[in-house]
Amino acid sequence: MNHVQLSVVCPVCNQETETTMHCLVSCHFVKQCWNIQMPDMQWEDETDFSDWLAPVLASTNIKKKAEVVTLCWHIWKSRNDLIWNNNPSSVNKVVASTRQYLTQWTTAQSRFFTVPLQPQVEGDGAPIWVKPQMNEVKISVDAAVFKEPEGVGFRIVIRDSDGLLVAAKTLFNSQLVAPLMAEALGIKEALSWCDQVQGERIIVETDCLAAAQAIRSSCPMRSHFGLVVEECRSLLKRLQKVSLCFVK
Ligand SMILES: [Zn+2]
Repeated sequence: MNHVQLSVVCPVCNQETETTMHCLVSCHFVKQCWNIQMPDMQWEDETDFSDWLAPVLASTNIKKKAEVVTLCWHIWKSRNDLIWNNNPSSVNKVVASTRQYLTQWTTAQSRFFTVPLQPQVEGDGAPIWVKPQMNEVKISVDAAVFKEPEGVGFRIVIRDSDGLLVAAKTLFNSQLVAPLMAEALGIKEALSWCDQVQGERIIVETDCLAAAQAIRSSCPMRSHFGLVVEECRSLLKRLQKVSLCFVK
């Protein structure tokens, strides 16, 4: 039986044992990245990476947390690129890619979180489910993210004005996405189904306020999530009898 020989020596400096702490924090190369990106970082003499990271994660400074995690991630990527692709990086490259990612991330966050609260739609935020009115149907959509097997599941249920089940379907998509993205994808599925639904008025209900608000706003979002939001917006625009509602 063949065994893959794994070296325990740090592939970056070829001098010290590669522990997590060495690989991400204390290697000579890595330390230069930290000194440029985060010169104010407090350096305790921790030997264990989780002990070193604990105060950062406990801090309420979101910007600092994002910087630390992003730099760790880019250091790890550059180390893997060296091992698997024989592609050595430089301190400047690691810092530059970290900064670029942070800028994109911050822009995406601010675009999303500055979505103004839209005026409440009639029936928005209802704590209990209410039957649709006459000639109205409600489509409830729910999404769940699964680890085993990896993917996202949607459950879409259509009920009429008597509260009776008209149709239901469950879908599974084997891509791993964040919960908010999963909700947006679920809403898109529900909206795509509306063409085939009878009724003068259709209300699509989601229990995800953030997704509902993002779709209702006209705020441009340049991200993967933003693309799904755009698709939902254009479906809503086309399907004039359909509205989106948030339910608790
Ligand atoms: Zn090293």
